[in-house]
Amino acid sequence: MSGRTGATSTGSDVLVIGGGLQGLSSALQLARRGLRVRLLEAEYCGRHASGVNAGGVRTLGRHVAEIPLALGARRMWHRLRELLGDDGGFVASGQLQVAENAADQQAAQERIAQLQARGFTHEQWIDQQEVHELVPSISPHVVGGIWAADDGYAQPYRVVTAFRLAALRAGVQIHEGAAATTVRRRDGVWQVEAGSARYAAAQLINTAGAWGAELAGRLGDAVPLQPGGLMLMVTQRVAPFVRPVLGAVGRPLSFKQFDNGTVVIGGGLRCEADAAARVAPVDLASMTRSAQTVVDLFPHLRDMQIVRAWAGVEGFLPDQIPVIGFGRASPGVVHAFGFSAHGFELSPIIGSIVADLVEHGSTEWPIAPFAVDRFGAG
Ligand SMILES: Cc1cc2nc3c(=O)[nH]c(=O)nc-3n(C[C@H](O)[C@H](O)[C@H](O)COP(=O)(O)OP(=O)(O)OC[C@H]3O[C@@H](n4cnc5c(N)ncnc54)[C@H](O)[C@@H]3O)c2cc1C
Repeated sequence: MSGRTGATSTGSDVLVIGGGLQGLSSALQLARRGLRVRLLEAEYCGRHASGVNAGGVRTLGRHVAEIPLALGARRMWHRLRELLGDDGGFVASGQLQVAENAADQQAAQERIAQLQARGFTHEQWIDQQEVHELVPSISPHVVGGIWAADDGYAQPYRVVTAFRLAALRAGVQIHEGAAATTVRRRDGVWQVEAGSARYAAAQLINTAGAWGAELAGRLGDAVPLQPGGLMLMVTQRVAPFVRPVLGAVGRPLSFKQFDNGTVVIGGGLRCEADAAARVAPVDLASMTRSAQTVVDLFPHLRDMQIVRAWAGVEGFLPDQIPVIGFGRASPGVVHAFGFSAHGFELSPIIGSIVADLVEHGSTEWPIAPFAVDRFGAG
């Protein structure tokens, strides 16, 4: 599967469909391995989840199958400037998930024990006093928390731009406003139509995000992906009160305060998405509940104003982990989609894995749990 196979004069070795972070990261790594790469993006790079997410670089709380990849990706985040020439605004602030009662504490400590039994030590229990030392203004009812010291956050659009520019420098040809409509295989070559343009390549990479299952289905791989919306809101500037990214063991919450004082609040706040129209309208009632959780933890923020809210479209799989790996129904296809609300952190490593698969036909990363056919007939 290696080498410059099957390219035509209008073609390339590899066609990447989808210009979010997984597509850009894959295109970059493939080009750095000497392959000729074209990337087709229906709108513009980072228009969807990759450009509008919360920027959380979180290994904490991951599905156990994702942990090796997440830890590998985190090492890359700490050296992002070496990879891209820009650090994407990465801040190694740590991430803390607070336990608000005895039940939360028990659940947290059980999880940490399970992880340690598997050799993972990146999540640590810290007690009430340590939590209050880290976040002095937190409500006194917090009894402890799970601490991931090397986690942090970055600025999504800056990261997208850094990957995009690095990919261009590596020779990737990026076509924006190029929605792949027809995809067929003829004489061992993939032929893709996008508007009036036609592209050909031996290898096809499906990084179409929430639309990845639609494309996979056309390639014969049925996947029960559900597109959904995820919401975020940002507040006015307030005095510095929290350095780590904060979540809660018992409720869906994640928020962080930037250096400019604004607070971004989210963390699994779901809303409806219209994948065909490519939009997710904000659901204000459910946002209000999340804002209330912040006030429960930090009562002094009671009068804080929300200045902006938005939602992005994300692809969710039933087991909440993505599809990563070869297509089963057709040769020359690699899928990486359906990141189920936590693909930002994984994005640096996904490019390496996709490039391994194309270059060597295998990867040393443990991707068996992400197989496209794990859902049976879908
Ligand atoms: C509000 C929100 C907050 C989030 N917060 C976090 C977080 O804090 N931490 C974290 O790790 N993750 C977070 N995520 C999840 C993360 O953003 C996504 O998992 C990740 O960005 C997915 O990247 P992607 O490249 O797979 O998808 P996308 O960014 O959606 O990119 C897919 C691209 O494919 C294009 N496309 C689709 N079909 C075609 C076609 N036929 N032809 C050409 N192009 C096509 C689309 O236009 C799109 O640009 C969040 C997501 C949202 C929405």
